[in-house]
Amino acid sequence: MSALFHPLIDRFQRRITYLRLSVTDRCDLRCSYCIPKGFKGFEEPAHWLTFDEIERVVGLFAQLGVSRVRLTGGEPLLRRNLPDLARRLSALPGLADLSLSTNATQLAHHAAALRSAGVNRLNISLDSLSAERVAQISGRDSLPSVLAGLDAADKAGFQRIKINMVAMRGVNEADILPMAEFCLARGYTLRLIEAMPMGETGRNTDYLDLGPIREQLAARFDLRPQALELDGGPARYWSTADGRGQIGFITPISQHFCATCNRVRLSVDGTLYLCLGQEEKLELRPMLRGGADDATLIAALRDAIELKPERHTFVEQPEKIVRFMSLTGG
Ligand code: SAM
Repeated sequence: MSALFHPLIDRFQRRITYLRLSVTDRCDLRCSYCIPKGFKGFEEPAHWLTFDEIERVVGLFAQLGVSRVRLTGGEPLLRRNLPDLARRLSALPGLADLSLSTNATQLAHHAAALRSAGVNRLNISLDSLSAERVAQISGRDSLPSVLAGLDAADKAGFQRIKINMVAMRGVNEADILPMAEFCLARGYTLRLIEAMPMGETGRNTDYLDLGPIREQLAARFDLRPQALELDGGPARYWSTADGRGQIGFITPISQHFCATCNRVRLSVDGTLYLCLGQEEKLELRPMLRGGADDATLIAALRDAIELKPERHTFVEQPEKIVRFMSLTGG
């Protein structure tokens, strides 16, 4: 069936092959750069796309050449029966890679089930190895459960685990080196991320320019730039000369990577966002619930891809995006 369809290519000749799928906008943490403390505006459950609806949309995307899907949120492990959804999605023809982003607080309970349901890669968010700093940033004493989640992920057989660390000026700079040592020792790929001005929480976070940090880490670990990207994603990777591991740098602010953007995002309420840092979107839920047939949905997806903006404007217009990351699906 997939051969019948032309792939999704936007106005800037970028081929869309990757969907980030938010399965909930809720989270058990309140990271200082993400969901504001006391936030009450979560989507009502009646608006959450059901597993049937999600499977249908992802199936259509797969027919249009999207081969990779990442489950995200909010915290995806808060969505009940997530392994059931993973099993359904990983069985879809054309889908080659199903991955998950998680804060890992509940991963110890779910790692094995997710692995056997077809999730083949994990990204885990962790901003420090200091329990005190993790509590300060995430609003909860979450480090012990995250470390238990990592142990469970290793035991379940997940390979090439990536650890995402938001680097914040004046907050966790001192934690970068211990994180790099920990990740290299455990065989994980550390990825440092510049904080983005999404919502007032993101805007109130001082991003750390990763250029100088990269130089320091390169000297400390004898890092060389990797010629090939690991996964067609936003990170630029540097590898240790002895081949022990690599560290990734995601620099949306100091050096944006929009020219190679290959992704779109579907939020839990069925809104398709064409860019993390712009407002262009397509509301799919009314179509799905209004009886649209597959041909109509495919035409709407193609039209939406035409709207994909050339780039975000986080630097020029930092106040533009009022939604915070967890709503769009980070
Ligand atoms: N709960 C899951 C997790 O923790 O990975 C998935 C969703 S979370 C929103 C995805 C990623 O977005 C996390 O790595 C988080 O640190 C990052 N994030 C959230 N707000 C951000 C911001 N303003 N700038 C940069 N990264 C942000």
